[in-house]
Amino acid sequence: MKYEVLIGLEFHVQMKTKSKMFCSCANEADHTKPNTNICPICLGHPGTLPTVNKKAIKMSQLASLALGCKLNSYIKFDRKNYFYPDLPKGYQISQFDKPVAEHGELIINAVATDGLTGSLELENELKRIGITRLHIEEDSAKSIHTKDKEASLIDYNRGGAPLIEIVTDPDFSTPLEAKTFAQEIQLLMRHLDISDADMEKGHLRCDANISLRPKGETILYPKTEIKNINSFRSLEKALEFEIKRQKILWEDGKAPKVQETRGYDDHSGETKSQRTKEGFADYRYFPEPDIPPLTFSAKEFSALGTELPELPQAKRLRFCHEYTHTGEEAKIITGNIHLANYFEQIISELQAWISTSELDWDKEKNTLIKLATNWLINNLITRLDEKNISFDDNKISAENFAEFITLLHQKKLGSTNAVKVLDIMIDNGADPSNVLRDYGLEQVDNDDEIKKIIDTVITTFPDQIAEYQAGKETIIKFLLGQVMRESQGKADPEKAENLLIEKLKK
Ligand code: ZN
Ligand code: MN
Repeated sequence: MKYEVLIGLEFHVQMKTKSKMFCSCANEADHTKPNTNICPICLGHPGTLPTVNKKAIKMSQLASLALGCKLNSYIKFDRKNYFYPDLPKGYQISQFDKPVAEHGELIINAVATDGLTGSLELENELKRIGITRLHIEEDSAKSIHTKDKEASLIDYNRGGAPLIEIVTDPDFSTPLEAKTFAQEIQLLMRHLDISDADMEKGHLRCDANISLRPKGETILYPKTEIKNINSFRSLEKALEFEIKRQKILWEDGKAPKVQETRGYDDHSGETKSQRTKEGFADYRYFPEPDIPPLTFSAKEFSALGTELPELPQAKRLRFCHEYTHTGEEAKIITGNIHLANYFEQIISELQAWISTSELDWDKEKNTLIKLATNWLINNLITRLDEKNISFDDNKISAENFAEFITLLHQKKLGSTNAVKVLDIMIDNGADPSNVLRDYGLEQVDNDDEIKKIIDTVITTFPDQIAEYQAGKETIIKFLLGQVMRESQGKADPEKAENLLIEKLKK
């Protein structure tokens, strides 16, 4: 029998506000001594009153708009009751029936193996994923279990940190779609500067629920929820494992009859049962009496809409159109908003340079953009990676990088020496023209100088010259290599080749 796979995702995103959700403690748990960013409010002492973090509300509303959700003009907070050591109040302040927003969507493309969305060549392969809801809640504290398993320690620094919870409809049919969507959520949160969204650091957490049904049926069968997913790769692997496991159950006539929670084990690549529905907590949600509901006017919402920047998907598409980037190039450059801005600054610097020269932008545009794109992706980014420098610490200004591109374009700099120049620029952010002058790396395109070098090579390699003249034309590569070597990589290779052939044909 054929089965249809239904997957839904649930995300918790830690917002990077200055203070926590309901108190003025610093929202900083990663680099702080345990239990130092705490106060009676986030520790849940009796008689304390929570106050709402306005910035967190705004961030969650921006995220909602980016996910095409309908913002609710009336929202309220509710208590979700359960007991756990990392929840000192005995309940979590969350939102039940009046969340920040509902009914959104995000379009993805998971057909391409690189998970690329929104590229030109793939516009026809898009898939719509419905967003059920988006709400705010507070984070729990962090339990740390000692290695000898003798004790569990609790760090309350994270307790009360503001979270966005995003729940999708069960619209994914493959693990790849789910992974692509999760990556898009990460990009979106970073783009909007809402969260660092590192999965490994727990800024972005993802649970997946999955059920199968015989193809053609329309009812939903009890789902299995997978927890402990801590990377995009794990998300994909866990779902792949679960599809296989559930298929076998269906084929054996043992399809899941109750909802189950399973944990994913990264080492074995398997999911293991944690609890079934019988053990599920009844959260006894009720309205949080200490926080009055919040209301928003249409005017406030439309003002918010104007604050929404260009979103990653739209940016990728625009880069494909405007800069004739391939989907992959657009994905790399727009994958970091600072890099995307840097690239656009370089292009406008190049345009400014053209306008002061006798060249025509419309004629040079494509070559320059291509040159800038290639050197940015294949050299700058790669070299920064190799040197373990994050792009945000890049010392080369857009102006200097653009100048570097103009030197290449004018053939004042050959590609071999360009790599050296770029390396020096990466180290000290220097102006490329200065580097060229200081290190004597300027490309030689003066005919007489190149001819002199060719003459030297001809006298040094008489045997090879004879072979060439006897008809072995491939040896030209060797001779050209010698010319380049003799010039210390500075000769314009195209010119050198032409002059060499001309000389030998005589
Ligand atoms: Zn506090
Ligand atoms: Mn939650």
